[in-house]
Amino acid sequence: MKTHVRVAVIGGGVVGASVLYHLTKAGWKDVLLIERAELTSGSTWHAAGGMHTLNGDPNVAKLQQYTIQLYSEIEKISGQSCGLHVTGGAMLAGTRERMDWLKMAQARGRYLGMELELLGAAEMKKLCPLMDEKCFVGGLYDPIEGHVDPFGVTHAYAKAAQIGGAEIVRQTRVIDTRQRSDGGWDVVTEKGTVHAEHVVNAGGLWAREVGRMVGLELPVLAMEHQYLITEDIPELAGQKEQLMCIDFEGEIYMRQERGGMLLGTYERSCVPWSPRVTPWDFGQDLLPNDLERIAPSLEVGFQHFPRLAEAGIRKIVNGPFTFAPDGNPLVGPIRGLRNYWVACGVMAGFSQGGGVGLALANWMVEGDPGADIWGMDVARYGEWATRAYTNAKVRENYSRRFRIRFPNEELPAARPLRTSPIYERLQAENAVFGDYCGLEHALWFAPQGTEPSEQITFHRSNAHAHVAAECRAVREGVGLIEITNYGKFEVTGAGAIDWLSRVMANRVPKVGRLSLSPMLNERGRLIGDFTLGRVSEERVFLIGTYAAESYYLRWFERTQRPSGVQVRPCAMEYVGLSIAGPKSRALLQGLVDTDLSNEAFPFMSFRAIDVGMVPAFVGRVSFTGDLGYEIWVTGEYQRALYDLLVQAGKPFGLRLVGGRALNAMRLEKSFGTWAREFRPIYGPYEAGLGRFVDLGKPEFIGRAAAIREKEQGGERRLIALSVQATDADAIGDEPIWHSGKVVGWVTSGGYGHSVGQSLALGYVSNAVAAETDGFAVDIIGERRAATRLVAPPFDPSGARMRS
Ligand SMILES: Cc1cc2nc3c(=O)[nH]c(=O)nc-3n(C[C@H](O)[C@H](O)[C@H](O)COP(=O)(O)OP(=O)(O)OC[C@H]3O[C@@H](n4cnc5c(N)ncnc54)[C@H](O)[C@@H]3O)c2cc1C
Repeated sequence: MKTHVRVAVIGGGVVGASVLYHLTKAGWKDVLLIERAELTSGSTWHAAGGMHTLNGDPNVAKLQQYTIQLYSEIEKISGQSCGLHVTGGAMLAGTRERMDWLKMAQARGRYLGMELELLGAAEMKKLCPLMDEKCFVGGLYDPIEGHVDPFGVTHAYAKAAQIGGAEIVRQTRVIDTRQRSDGGWDVVTEKGTVHAEHVVNAGGLWAREVGRMVGLELPVLAMEHQYLITEDIPELAGQKEQLMCIDFEGEIYMRQERGGMLLGTYERSCVPWSPRVTPWDFGQDLLPNDLERIAPSLEVGFQHFPRLAEAGIRKIVNGPFTFAPDGNPLVGPIRGLRNYWVACGVMAGFSQGGGVGLALANWMVEGDPGADIWGMDVARYGEWATRAYTNAKVRENYSRRFRIRFPNEELPAARPLRTSPIYERLQAENAVFGDYCGLEHALWFAPQGTEPSEQITFHRSNAHAHVAAECRAVREGVGLIEITNYGKFEVTGAGAIDWLSRVMANRVPKVGRLSLSPMLNERGRLIGDFTLGRVSEERVFLIGTYAAESYYLRWFERTQRPSGVQVRPCAMEYVGLSIAGPKSRALLQGLVDTDLSNEAFPFMSFRAIDVGMVPAFVGRVSFTGDLGYEIWVTGEYQRALYDLLVQAGKPFGLRLVGGRALNAMRLEKSFGTWAREFRPIYGPYEAGLGRFVDLGKPEFIGRAAAIREKEQGGERRLIALSVQATDADAIGDEPIWHSGKVVGWVTSGGYGHSVGQSLALGYVSNAVAAETDGFAVDIIGERRAATRLVAPPFDPSGARMRS
């Protein structure tokens, strides 16, 4: 074993082997993989090897496509067969709602270049002869699904990596990882210590234990998972291999295994494995079978596929594999640990392993994952993702693996976990709550005396009329919205302004003012969008997206911040309330001594102001696009502020307003938001944020790339559409059509109550971005005509928020 390497990858499962291969492919040859036992000795060896392209996140779906296409490449380089069987796949729907879901999946696949075909039950039966078509409405056919041999794939990656210069040591456990003063790592193994510049934790079933070596508690949990293999079924003999198949109602997946069928299930009464510590002596072991637990799924499966009920069971496999709370991988560098990377929580190693390896290798070698991997970035979790939270969410996610997640559905596990001081007050007002990063926030308010719950649906729900009333209250009078769930940072110290000016693309505002600013990476891509509020010469508040707090902090660490500049996350310290609407000024003026007239406190002002007895920071800005104020106070004052505003608001007809109405109102103003319109695959000019990029500043990160984008025009444009929808609106990820061709995708959609239109925001290619007519958007499988809006449909001149 070498004693000094550029990268030490810990773990020789399919993920570690893929990372190793991709590092060599990207040109880093001096890389070492250290495996405790033999390659595949974690979850990998007993996997069913199924692979598929569909994923709820289109960016993850792209990486899944990449993974599947990679197998022939690694077979060719390594000479090792991956046991590739591209049988095609069938997703079978037993209900109309599931069929709607499949229609939406098919539509989404269109802009990803997937050839997915919707078929009725009778046509599906021709492809899946074992099914009883009476049990199904239809299904979706994907020609590039199938299965691989887990051992073959892992060894193909490993051999291809070795051919590329990598070293692999087996039967060597890493027992510690210690950061060195030179920024590298001492990787301590049973057989000696290796000095590595970078460490990759690809420990799979032991990723938590490997993380704990550096004080990291990764939000991953292993679940027991069972599949069975039937005896040979005579009807399969001599036939084309059966399709990979998912039966959503049975909650089972299936594929042919030699002469029989392999059948696995994500059972509702699922069981975590080793919830606290994974034993080091667990090797190529299996867990005891528990057919009772999966009996309900098998029963449905046997009804749906009667021939299977008659075939005997040849083998049962029960093995553990790991999940993150949302079921997507955890990939990327860890904040606070230099040159420490993770690639774990990969629950579908044979669909995702290639994409994970590619993204991580790009990130390490080029400084950027090269794709939009926000959905798998380890930074999407914060300290709130504790072990017990992870346990509850992983169990929920596992047991719902094949269930529909409706766009307006809020899941109940691990709630309530975090609440703001006014939570009980909002509860008493019949708030329907949503969960955002473990924090409860009001989505809308049900009338008193009714059940505060929302029917889950792809269509407009029972919330529609109430959200309409909340929007009306803001547009005609005044609404009160809790905005605690925004991310906040306080930047202070000598040099704070120079540092911020280098990190943000826009100017740092003058004292007493707000400014909006995109944050760009060196490639000029959008990695954040903030409101900056300057309190004093050397104190600035940044307000952005809470879900990206760790992501932003990790970026700030990379920016060579002078030692005198402190960046302090303070999202939960400063909780907030916003009032918005034409009567908001009169309401607030009655509570403060400061002159709030437009001349004295114009749009984008920001100042410390006492509201009644409550010391607060008040910004004259509102995401509703109306006259409005954001009021930030430390937690202990929030109840007093709330009570004061509610009391003083009575004569003005103040109404409580939730997040759903806020979203509808920002769509009426065509305002984008992080993780939807603003993501690291878009540039600021593409996203319509060019006016917030100050190219007059001498230097800021991403400036050169932004100049290029401005000169060359980028590839696409964010546009706003008015859609001829009837009882359902766009939700995001639907294809946008123009003249019969897919030209882009929707990033968000909803109903604009104040303008009486169904609205969508989305990106289209430059070629059609100036057109107004001829657009269409797929809504639940139906193509709806759409018109590009040349200006925001509500208050196009922006007069209301400025006056
Ligand atoms: C029953 C079952 C069926 C499945 N079916 C499918 C399927 O059909 N399709 C699909 O895509 N996925 C399937 N999976 C999931 C799949 O197995 C995982 O996604 C994949 O194996 C994860 O790979 P990994 O490399 O992250 O982890 P692992 O396979 O757990 O590998 C981690 C490796 O790291 C090594 N290691 C850990 N700690 C150390 C240390 N300190 N020092 C040295 N080495 C260390 C371990 O020995 C191990 O070899 C299934 C899983 C199970 C259990």
